Amino acid sequence: MFRSISWQLQFSYGVLVLLALVGLGMFGFLHRKSEMLRQVDEGLQNRSKQISAILVRYDLGELRLPELVRNSKSPPPLPPPRGISEDAVLDETTYYHVWKLDDGGLNPAFASEGFPGVIGSVPHPRDLQSTGEVRTGDEQRQLLNRAVRNYVVLAGTDLSERETALNRFLVRLVLGELVFLVLFLIAGYWLTRRALRPIGRISKTARTISDGALDERIPEEGGSSELNDLSAVLNDSFDHLEASILRQRKFTSDASHELRTPIAAILAEGQSRPETIEEYRASLDRCVDTARSMGQLVDQLLELARYDSRKQEIVREPTDLDLLVNRAIQLVRPMAEEKAIGIEKHLDVVQANVNPVRISQVVLNLLNNAVSYTGEGGTIVVRLQETETGIEISVEDSGIGILKEDQPKIFDRFYRADASRSDHEKKHYGLGLAISREIALAHGGELRVESEEGKGSVFTLQLPREAG
Ligand code: ADP
Repeated sequence: MFRSISWQLQFSYGVLVLLALVGLGMFGFLHRKSEMLRQVDEGLQNRSKQISAILVRYDLGELRLPELVRNSKSPPPLPPPRGISEDAVLDETTYYHVWKLDDGGLNPAFASEGFPGVIGSVPHPRDLQSTGEVRTGDEQRQLLNRAVRNYVVLAGTDLSERETALNRFLVRLVLGELVFLVLFLIAGYWLTRRALRPIGRISKTARTISDGALDERIPEEGGSSELNDLSAVLNDSFDHLEASILRQRKFTSDASHELRTPIAAILAEGQSRPETIEEYRASLDRCVDTARSMGQLVDQLLELARYDSRKQEIVREPTDLDLLVNRAIQLVRPMAEEKAIGIEKHLDVVQANVNPVRISQVVLNLLNNAVSYTGEGGTIVVRLQETETGIEISVEDSGIGILKEDQPKIFDRFYRADASRSDHEKKHYGLGLAISREIALAHGGELRVESEEGKGSVFTLQLPREAG
């Protein structure tokens, strides 16, 4: 379960959000703390200035301070100057301490009640900069300043209440972030489950298909998410897969069917009881003929199987195509002459890098078909030329032609447009064009047909120019 994509996504998002929350929380907390200290320091600066202002007035002679402070262990509070009420200089939230520098060194002069003591040692006035020196101790914050000429003024405050408030803020922050994290995880879980739902559908469909339901498809929801695109691509692949499996099944059943007929013929011959020696001979000849044609069928099937598994290697060599086509024409000429079919040829001199045996096989097949499907006295025109797109060998006949709807099918295995015309003795199994097309494809070319029923057909083998 924890290896599922949705959990892994959840986990990564959770970790990322946690890190972001911790970072934000730390930033918020530190900002709040520095803001608090800034306010405290501002208050201490004001307090320090207030005390310095009073000291200035004393220093101008309103009170003789030295007698007051000398050798005092717990100095008195700073009396408010004349004209200013006690309340005006009282500040409950801060405390102060004043030291005066005289011949004997730094002596305590004044201090507010409950002064908790100075953090560290009291510095000499000349060591203090004009901005003062801030010290932070155990829950205390103190600001030391130089005042008038010889005074050191300390203004301080107790931070404990503020720190408690800050800690309360931290607890609230952490709790808030935890609540947010939990809400985010719940929402994230819901969203990832929703986004990944198509994956479940895809694997369910794939399982059903592999169980044998070839026509099952992934329901597409529309929209343009990546998973919908993937579903469309997979459905396309399933279509191809189904078509190819159905083709294979048909091929196997067609092949078995084609083989059953000659086997039945041989069996029938074997069971017949001829009376004369001549009849025996004739029967044996028929057996041999049938076995030979079965052998040819099996050879063709094996050839196709090799193309299917891409094991049929095309070994190319420079070939004079005009000579090759010429030889093929010579081979079919006797058959054509029997039907008084004239063969015209327009052959350019073309050399190409092809497998001569395979290309001869294609040309012979086209010529054989042309003779077979052309009536007495017809004509066949054979052309070989180099065009802009490549090398073209075309065989045109004035034969029966092929119906428009049959034209795409004639390259299918075992397809015969007119089954009645095809008989085993003539070895018309409907595999010739299928093999020819495989050969064309293996050469990087194609085999196409243009035909009109009753007028004739043109078969064109096109080979790429690189083959030249
Ligand atoms: P076959 O061995 O039956 O001729 P092919 O694969 O060579 O097998 O041809 C498939 C089918 O295409 C044939 O049965 C025939 O119906 C049709 N065909 C092929 N060539 C021609 C042609 N030149 N004229 C008319 N029909 C043709």
